[in-house]
Amino acid sequence: MAEICNQRDFCRTVIEGEGAKKALAKDRDNAENVEKEKKKERRDGEKLCPVSSKCGGCQFLDMPYEKQLKKKQRDVEQLLKGFCKVHKIAGMDAPFYYRNKVHAVFGYRKGQVISGIYREGTHEIVPVEKCWIEDQKADEIIGTIRGLLKSFKIRTYDEDRGYGLLRHVLVRRGFATGQVMVVLVTASPVFPSKNNFVKALRQKHPEITTIIQNLNDRETSMVLGDREKVLYGKGYIEDVLCGCTFRISSKSFYQVNPVQTEKLYAKAVEAAGLTGKEFVVDAYCGIGTIGIIASRKAGRVIGVELNQDAVRDAVENAKRNRIKNIRFYHNDAGVFMEEMASSGEHVDVVFLDPPRSGSTEAFIQSVAVMGPDRVVYVSCNPETLARDLKVFEKVGYRAEEAWAVDLFPHTGHVETVCLLSKLHSDQHIEVELQMDELDLTAAESKATYKEIKDYVLEHSGLKVSSLYIAQVKEKCGIIERVNYNLPKSENSRQPKCPPEKEVAIREALEYFHMI
Ligand code: SAH
Repeated sequence: MAEICNQRDFCRTVIEGEGAKKALAKDRDNAENVEKEKKKERRDGEKLCPVSSKCGGCQFLDMPYEKQLKKKQRDVEQLLKGFCKVHKIAGMDAPFYYRNKVHAVFGYRKGQVISGIYREGTHEIVPVEKCWIEDQKADEIIGTIRGLLKSFKIRTYDEDRGYGLLRHVLVRRGFATGQVMVVLVTASPVFPSKNNFVKALRQKHPEITTIIQNLNDRETSMVLGDREKVLYGKGYIEDVLCGCTFRISSKSFYQVNPVQTEKLYAKAVEAAGLTGKEFVVDAYCGIGTIGIIASRKAGRVIGVELNQDAVRDAVENAKRNRIKNIRFYHNDAGVFMEEMASSGEHVDVVFLDPPRSGSTEAFIQSVAVMGPDRVVYVSCNPETLARDLKVFEKVGYRAEEAWAVDLFPHTGHVETVCLLSKLHSDQHIEVELQMDELDLTAAESKATYKEIKDYVLEHSGLKVSSLYIAQVKEKCGIIERVNYNLPKSENSRQPKCPPEKEVAIREALEYFHMI
């Protein structure tokens, strides 16, 4: 492996050297050369994985792991610039075969059963037999199922003709327990010779602890349908994280890289600074992992989660770990927090671990109403984290420090834990940053502050400041953040935008279709 990586480094140096010369070449040549570089990089990737360019899962497979970590660190730092320090990223010691959940779509090609992944953005199946990041046992089981389908004469489902039985297979493995779940997703509830099939599969893989038939008879890109039947075992597997045991159903969210997840959760709980007395909320709690791990160090914990199966798992997990100071609620996290806030609750610590789309203003505003001293934000998307930190700032929470953890080696994804603390009114600080530097609203809006200033100057001869533009944007309801140049005290005054400048700014906003 190391040898391949070194060769790759060498190739890269050559490319970079050529790149410098290309900068001097004509545009047309440049474009051609960039294409050649891309092709070469793709070829390099394919030496390691024959389907890397079609799959699109491991964008960084051809980059040495240390470089990947540096890149992720830089990306997170860039996004959190102006918010807080980012500690050194926690990488993985052996960054391969870490995915504990493997999904394979099944189909036919030239009379042969194939299984693999959909080519990015299509429903064309790219056969995969081996993957550098998936659990090897899971890949083996999927290979066995391909063989069994042939001997049992079970047809794979044909999406175009709506004919056939097996659509997908999902394998989940508990890394600490070794328990294995196999989910057979079928297009019809009728599964001929089901018992013999299950028996044959178990014979080849005695490590399988549960087999589930999931019915998905809809025209949908979702893998799992609503109805399930347990064909063998308990219908769930268990895994151990940070000393607690968790039961995981087929549809519940569970982090895909448990080795790194332990580091992530340990950091999140440590950042919360619990002393044993606190009232804690674990929002977007999934099967209750963070809340359950934290509960041993807290007074009491409430978890909230939208997925009903996950909530069921969470309740069982609390029982399984003999934890009595935790309750779980099935609800939208934003709605739940609004209700809690309006009933006058105060909480001490909030953990939130939302999906990639991040949290919501309603959620964040309700957090502020309940006034926890610390908020620990666990994020799988640093872009929405940065967006939400801006809202937190607006309601009086400052990001103190952040830790990046690489849960997804060879892909572009990264997890981040960010600790926020409540700003007491006497601690409000004057934000010295330049508006354009700080301005994340430019990403949401259509023109930057500089463009607006230039437009105003050109059309009305007036010079306007970023502060005035921000004030007018705020009046027009197109800015979320009002913490720019926070006054030192309640009494300090900020200059207000004069009416004639306001008119000129509004004209510019109209011109840029922002109002
Ligand atoms: N904290 C858990 C789960 C994190 S993944 C863990 O570490 O395992 C994000 C979770 O948010 C998922 O379980 C998803 O079902 C849940 N979710 C998504 N939207 C939600 C919403 N609006 N309200 C509450 N939970 C939501």
